[in-house]
Amino acid sequence: ISKKEGRGQYRVYSSLNLHDDFSTSLELDLRRAIDQNQLMLYYQPKVNADTGTIAGVEALVRWNHPTHGPIPPDRFIPLAEESGLIIELDQWVFRSVCEQVTQWHRDNRMPLIVSVNLSMLSFQHAELPRYITRVLEETRVDPRQIELELTESTVMSHLDLTLSTLRQLKEMGLQIALDDFGTGYSSLSYLSKLPIQTVKIDKSFIRDLTVDCGDQTIVKSIIQLAHNLNMNVVAEGVESADQLIFLREHQCEQIQGYYYSPPLPEPDFVEYVAQQQAE
Ligand code: C2E
Ligand code: CA
Ligand code: CA
Ligand code: CA
Repeated sequence: ISKKEGRGQYRVYSSLNLHDDFSTSLELDLRRAIDQNQLMLYYQPKVNADTGTIAGVEALVRWNHPTHGPIPPDRFIPLAEESGLIIELDQWVFRSVCEQVTQWHRDNRMPLIVSVNLSMLSFQHAELPRYITRVLEETRVDPRQIELELTESTVMSHLDLTLSTLRQLKEMGLQIALDDFGTGYSSLSYLSKLPIQTVKIDKSFIRDLTVDCGDQTIVKSIIQLAHNLNMNVVAEGVESADQLIFLREHQCEQIQGYYYSPPLPEPDFVEYVAQQQAE
């Protein structure tokens, strides 16, 4: 398959064989992309379900490949994880977010909490707390302004090690959210022991929420469980008013999804916030 005509198919094969030629060259390109600042961050608002005002924002990485064009994260994040490059990538994202936060402060903008995704490898990397401390100091960002999004499976594997890192990060003042909640294998008894403030309901439960009674039951249970543990709930992948109404009725605190806004390039995001504050 040539690179061009095979693109759709490569996406199918990629999960089976990450080591085809195209992936190998992508991996090399990705290394260069990190070194040469070819990656970009997009920002997606999280909105308060009751008031409709912006409550936070998630940073999502984008790669505009010089010859292949935009490559979705679902394509290159697995490659980065496979090759270990993810550690550098996540560090690049973390530093860039902190620099952006500093810039926003300088412009007197947005004391919003900004969420950063961390892959399992990054989270388990022994240097993580030290790296985070250093970048926060260098950029003078208040740790309370940064939230780390960790998937349920990241947190649940090697739980003893995970727990001590989580406690350390919390001590430092960072917020922690459990991402893709409902898709992993959380032992519910452990959830109460985790020093986390927020769970994010995975978008697979939101998609058919208004027609699927099973999803409705699951979403209601997650919200109730989280509230009983004094945690906040964010629903991701919210695309319609009907989904929003259901979530609002069941006291979900925050909404993230195309209904309000897709992830936006930084200038558009700033515009979105300014417009909202003008209303
Ligand atoms: P995620 O952390 O679960 O991020 C949510 C994904 O849902 C994002 O996809 C976002 O664009 C998409 N989304 C938001 N609203 C809607 C909606 O209303 N409907 C639908 N169908 N989708 C919506 P994206 O940006 O393509 O990222 C995919 C995944 O790649 C992320 O899933 C995350 O696991 C990973 N990722 C993205 N940026 C980073 C990063 O900086 N570091 C790491 N380690 N992973 C990242
Ligand atoms: Ca996330
Ligand atoms: Ca998610
Ligand atoms: Ca995900």
